[in-house]
Amino acid sequence: MFISDTLSRATAACAGDANYYQRHAICFLQEVQEDLQQVNQADYLNVTGRRLEQIKRHTDNDEGLQALRSTVTTGWPDLKEQVPVIIRGYWPYRDEISAQNGILFRGQRVVIPKSLRTEMLARIHASHIGGEACYRQARETLFWPNMQAEIKDFVSTCTTCNEYAHSQQKETMLSHPLPTRPWQIVSMDLFTHGRKDYLLIVDHYSDFWEIELLPDLSAETVIKRCKAQFARHGQPDRVITDNGPQFTSAFARFASEWEFEHVTSSPRYPKANGKAESAVKIAKNLLRKAARDGNDPWKAVLHWRNTPTENMDSSPAQRLMSRRLKTSIPVTNKLLEPVVVTGVTEKLQYRRQLAKSFYDRSARVLPELEVGETVRMKPPPGDTSRIWRAG
Ligand SMILES: [Zn+2]
Repeated sequence: MFISDTLSRATAACAGDANYYQRHAICFLQEVQEDLQQVNQADYLNVTGRRLEQIKRHTDNDEGLQALRSTVTTGWPDLKEQVPVIIRGYWPYRDEISAQNGILFRGQRVVIPKSLRTEMLARIHASHIGGEACYRQARETLFWPNMQAEIKDFVSTCTTCNEYAHSQQKETMLSHPLPTRPWQIVSMDLFTHGRKDYLLIVDHYSDFWEIELLPDLSAETVIKRCKAQFARHGQPDRVITDNGPQFTSAFARFASEWEFEHVTSSPRYPKANGKAESAVKIAKNLLRKAARDGNDPWKAVLHWRNTPTENMDSSPAQRLMSRRLKTSIPVTNKLLEPVVVTGVTEKLQYRRQLAKSFYDRSARVLPELEVGETVRMKPPPGDTSRIWRAG
């Protein structure tokens, strides 16, 4: 209160015939100024003399801080536009900046010269705490314009932190295009049941799946079984598989000979081939239950194919072959005549929207990757080092 009261009376115009109060104020002001100069901010800093000396030396060599120091000493201009461009970043803090013993302060925080900022960032982040925590710690003692953003940036590119990253939040659902006719897009997967290996091919349009027993797991055998299925249902436009050893170079040749596009799911993201995965689940379930009851598994498969799908009003067989299949359930001849099912793509579209809106509740849109950006691979299951290696 004393200081502000005094300063408010100490106007510049009172040098001549100053009255008693004014003379008193000027005198007091001089005392205050002397006192202020004796308050050494450096005393409040918990740093060594050598470090202070280093900051001072770098401040002396810093073009911006020299300009800042002289502006602080001579007084700030009235308008931001009158401030040298190099120190305009300090304008919002102009009332708090002071110079002492060659070092600049904002309040009790040291203004760090440009040449020392990288070193300071490394010190702030020495224990690899997160960006927010680093800033909370640094802002008590250090200052430079844009410090918060630079700390965040530094931490986000820290190799050590990134090697031990947490899993990224899942991205919003990216979907394969929807088919407009039967057997246009199919997914494949291998599965084992009762110690036997099978190939499953599922049609995206009808959900109709075929299974083939595999005498061995070679690519040649898998391709042979695919050909038998394609001879029955036609050549697909697109075949989706995982990255299994059956789906590599020999399969690529097969794809070019039979003129379909071969798409593989992302490594370690089997959900990308979710169509085949869920069909495998259904197939295994049918086979398991039939075996348990001692029933014919193929009759179970026939029934499943002939059963109308939930929310679709038609069965997989009707969508693939435009007819009901004859089973042991009595049916009129009329119902076994071929009828093309319409509106399938619209229903598939609706079903997908439902699935996507459910999935995206816990997902977020991730930024596009730029060419040249560092990418890291999540450690594979069983990797005990848990290091996210640069890819
Ligand atoms: Zn780190």
